[in-house]
Amino acid sequence: MFFDYFRRNLDCRGVQPNDAHKKLAEMERRGKLDGVITQNIDGLHQKAGSRNVWEIHGSALRSYCVSCHAEYGKDYVFENAEEIPHCPKCGKMVRPDVTLYGELLPQRAYEEAVALIRYADLLVIGGTSLEVGSAAQLAHMYHGKYLVIINKGRTKMEGKADLVFHDSISKVLNTIQI
Ligand SMILES: [Zn+2]
Repeated sequence: MFFDYFRRNLDCRGVQPNDAHKKLAEMERRGKLDGVITQNIDGLHQKAGSRNVWEIHGSALRSYCVSCHAEYGKDYVFENAEEIPHCPKCGKMVRPDVTLYGELLPQRAYEEAVALIRYADLLVIGGTSLEVGSAAQLAHMYHGKYLVIINKGRTKMEGKADLVFHDSISKVLNTIQI
């Protein structure tokens, strides 16, 4: 059931980055942005050209063997003829490298995200209500100078923010001149 759902709904291989992804990549190229922390698993920040990206919920574009930890590329799970894909090396299951509900976050990505947030002097939080989950947890670790929130709906930390935009991220980032 999981693999069926995953293949039908989470095949982001052909999806292209939007204006927000592109703007963030450009800001990084020009030295205006240290990094991106994302809960998305679609790999679009990297596709847009961002380099310092920490995917705290993993990526649908990677997969690995649950037993021998061999890594498989972005097509392995999606193109596999087997209902449940198996590892050619050891015969055990190959699964997407995404964090499922109840699982621990990927340690390296989480640690790097914490470090980025702790040393940042400006944090932009976009596209999350910060109601629950790992993004909310990380946001509370920020003690830098300026906080900017961009989200269509209300978010929990608005009271602490220096700037709040209730709008789409692409629209807001497009107005920034760098
Ligand atoms: Zn294996």
